[in-house]
Formats: sequence, C-alpha cells, structure tokens
Amino acid sequence: MCSIQEKGFMQEAINLSIENVVSGKGGPFGAVIVKDGKIIARGANEVTSSGDPTAHAEVVAIRKACKELGTFQLNGCQIYTSCEPCPMCLGAIYWARPDKMYFANSKKDAADIHFDDQFIYEELELPYQNRKLETVQIMRDDALKAFEAWSKSISKIEY
Ligand SMILES: [Zn+2]
Repeated sequence: MCSIQEKGFMQEAINLSIENVVSGKGGPFGAVIVKDGKIIARGANEVTSSGDPTAHAEVVAIRKACKELGTFQLNGCQIYTSCEPCPMCLGAIYWARPDKMYFANSKKDAADIHFDDQFIYEELELPYQNRKLETVQIMRDDALKAFEAWSKSISKIEY
C-alpha cells in the first residue's frame, strides 16, 4: 500500500497530532510537507492557542513550507495530514499545488469526535442565496475595476 518512507512521514504527522493534544496547544491534527524525501515543514492545529480560526495543521504547514522555500507554490512537494482536510484546507492545498496528498483519519472519523465539517461541504454545493451564511452581492461594477486593472497589468505575477 505505502512505502516505509511514506509511513515515516505520516507517522510524524500523527505524532504532531498526538503531541498537540497532550500539550493542550490545539485540536488533534498534524501535518508535514515533504520535498525531495525530506520534511521541510511541520504544522499542528493552533486555532485555540493562537486565536486564529484558520490555523489548521495543513495551513500552518503550508505557510511554513512556503516561507522555507521562499515561494507561494509547493510543486514537487507532498503533504501528509493526519486527517482528511476540511474544505478550507483542501482549498489551501489546491492553491499551494503540492504534487500529492496523503491522509490518515477520515472526515467521518473527525465528525465522530465532533469536528464536523460535512456541513461546509454541503453548503458549498448550494447556490449562495440558499446557504446558512447570509450572503449578498453588492457593488460589482466598482469591484470589477480591480479585475480590469489586473487584466491590463504588465507587472502582475500570475498564480
Ligand atoms: Zn482544515
């Protein structure tokens, strides 16, 4: 199924998730990012200790890896996360563009201990008018000015 090397990296992500609970730093989630057979960044959930609702293990690890590599793309990297990512992290992983993702615990396992992001996955499928988060579109014509400027810009860095 997986190599000894892959197991070692996932074991590190799992260890981070366990240490995080023991230290009281945050939720039971850990992630590592690997490049060229080496761990370049580690992350654990820091939501409650850092007062940051976006400080999920995967996001923490992505931020550190990008800082380490001095880039905004993780091409040639693999991410190992102790749990199947929530929609925010899955989105962040797509934006970061690693080559491959490994996960251990499933979304269902997380829901069983009341980390239920299933409702976000369900919300994403709905037109915004039908979502629980009241959402209103306003001032599109004004906002489009930034998009027009972007389209015409010759100094932009595409991503
Ligand atoms: Zn997440």
